Amino acid sequence: MLTGEQYKKSLNDGRATFFEGHRINDLIAHPVLGQSVDQVAKGYDRWHRPGKDARNPLMSVPRSADELRERIPMQHGADILALVTYQSLMTLTTAAARIGGALPEFARRIRAYVENAQLNDIRIVECITDAKGDRSLPPAQQDDPDAYTHVVSRTDKGVVIRGAKLHITAASLAHELMVIPTKAMHKGEESYAIACVVPVNAPGVKIVNTSYAPRLEDVRSFPFSSRIHMPEGFVIFDDVFVPNERVMLDGQTEHAAVFAHSLGLWERLGGLSDMAEQADQLVGLAQLIAEANGLAGVSHVREKISEMIIHATLVRAALEAALGNCEMSADGTAFPNELFTNAGKYHAAANYNMMVRHLHDVAGGSILTAPAISDLENESTGQLVRKYMSTGKGVDGEYRLRLFHAIRDLTADAYGGWRQVTNVQAGGGLYAQRIVTRRHYDLNGAKRKALEAAGIGGGHPETPGAGRKA
Ligand SMILES: Cc1cc2nc3c(=O)[nH]c(=O)nc-3n(C[C@H](O)[C@H](O)[C@H](O)COP(=O)(O)OP(=O)(O)OC[C@H]3O[C@@H](n4cnc5c(N)ncnc54)[C@H](O)[C@@H]3O)c2cc1C
Repeated sequence: MLTGEQYKKSLNDGRATFFEGHRINDLIAHPVLGQSVDQVAKGYDRWHRPGKDARNPLMSVPRSADELRERIPMQHGADILALVTYQSLMTLTTAAARIGGALPEFARRIRAYVENAQLNDIRIVECITDAKGDRSLPPAQQDDPDAYTHVVSRTDKGVVIRGAKLHITAASLAHELMVIPTKAMHKGEESYAIACVVPVNAPGVKIVNTSYAPRLEDVRSFPFSSRIHMPEGFVIFDDVFVPNERVMLDGQTEHAAVFAHSLGLWERLGGLSDMAEQADQLVGLAQLIAEANGLAGVSHVREKISEMIIHATLVRAALEAALGNCEMSADGTAFPNELFTNAGKYHAAANYNMMVRHLHDVAGGSILTAPAISDLENESTGQLVRKYMSTGKGVDGEYRLRLFHAIRDLTADAYGGWRQVTNVQAGGGLYAQRIVTRRHYDLNGAKRKALEAAGIGGGHPETPGAGRKA
């Protein structure tokens, strides 16, 4: 396994990565991305065990509901890059189990890759979302054939790919890019049915970064985002050669969707477990600020917080149902339950705005206007800010001010905006979760129950595709 220091050194590999118009020559020393590198390095040190066969427990394949459940607190304590690496490894493991019968050679390559990645303790990111051009047109009918990543040429040693994968979390800080088709592909779209793994420093890979990291010198007013920001990567494949051993699907359109479905499952489980944790944090902040404002006993405030508690509890219940009703593959891998994962992720994301609305409603305008921590240290303003931020003897002004900063940073500033959009879009938009939920829900069973309950005989026509497994 790598130490944090070894991880940092490994990034010095000639990768072409850019930020706000400039190529980054030294990621570790970069004023914004360097902080994210430090977070990942700390994660390496936290998990590090000596010995050549040592492995990060988060990266191992779960074999039961209990093992799936054990991963959840590990994920909450991990940096985002470690989390997406786990999801990438599980996506590949799931896809290998699903394509293994029809495409044994690709399944073998995938399993060998996963084994090596675990052993070498590398970090991998999920490259699925293409640029996609005109959303109403399939890949082969786009004005620009590169709107979806595809194979542009091949030799007996491998393939050359071209395209772009957008919004790739932590791409610049990883070692490898897991490239998979963004959706189902059809006859005539063989060149788009490509799955492979590409080193971040491969010639032709260029990554343009964005970041919601706070840019102030004094980040004490950003208690969340100063600790956990990660760049998003706009990843360009400008004719990148991929050797055969790293290719995991090549033209088999009928299997292209397997990769997207596998990623969707693990990405949405990650989203669901993250939102279960976030929901508790939002309830906690609402109760704390209500108490600090002297309003915790007022009926409309209690009702809002009760509604938040019900939401947090149901999201937690959906997570538990997704883990407890896990499905086992033939090779003994435990997969979260598709129905509960997708319905839970949808419900959590669709109602996130309600949680934030209640929190903002309960807290008041100081969410946006509370003075900075440094204003408490100014000899002219410090005592006065403390005095007027206090609401009574038991409520210190600095304590209340810090609560407002926490709420702003988490829900009403750059990081808050990132979370709001991420909850809806990551793992595919809400629409994607509705499709998968409907596919796994027993709709014919529901119709049968309705007819029986209503005392209507004669049976009913089956709804095609309802209750079908992916
Ligand atoms: C912060 C963040 C991090 C992310 N991290 C990753 C990552 O690490 N890796 C990765 O691969 N992706 C990542 N994503 C991408 C995410 O999965 C996509 O944003 C999401 O799938 C939507 O795709 P899009 O952004 O291209 O929007 P669009 O596809 O343009 O979707 C916008 C809306 O249009 C609808 N729509 C689109 N096409 C059609 C159609 N043909 N018919 C009907 N409706 C349609 C969608 O349902 C949605 O409601 C991330 C996104 C965010 C915001």
